[in-house]
Amino acid sequence: MTHANGNSLTRRGFFASTGAAALTVASTPVVASVEAGSASNFKFEINRTVDEWLTQLGEQSYAIMREGFTEAPKSSPLWEETRAGTYHCKGCDLHNYSANQKVVLEKGWVFFYHAEPDSVLMAIDGAVPEYGAMSEDAALIELHCRRCAGHLGHLVIIAGGMKHCINGASLDFKPTAA
Ligand SMILES: [Zn+2]
Repeated sequence: MTHANGNSLTRRGFFASTGAAALTVASTPVVASVEAGSASNFKFEINRTVDEWLTQLGEQSYAIMREGFTEAPKSSPLWEETRAGTYHCKGCDLHNYSANQKVVLEKGWVFFYHAEPDSVLMAIDGAVPEYGAMSEDAALIELHCRRCAGHLGHLVIIAGGMKHCINGASLDFKPTAA
């Protein structure tokens, strides 16, 4: 809140001092929307230090879940897993996905039609070359865990519809007991 207000005051001061009245008016809705987004006091339920995350996740899952990297296709055995069971966030064990929503696609990541209710949040991500989004302007919808913010993957259109394209390194699979 304080930060956003500071920015808007600085901008208004700049426009006023240069006499750019038209720009001041035009920028008002934009500033307002930025303030609305920045004013959120949302806090994730689970927060750990960098060292704690590294110890818990290991280097590969840390790079994916806490820094937003994407694993190499078919690097996780979960991509072709077909047993019944549930998929849990590796960062906090929240039940994010279920096997009955999973589809195996040759692309080699872990695909689901839907997440479990109230388990996954979305954000706007930047370019992801691994998914063919090479341009700096390309934006994808990132999927992350509702409880610990851990980066899971992206929402993509593939094989005729929208899918959750998830890194196996972000998930723990718990097969249903036979
Ligand atoms: Zn989590």
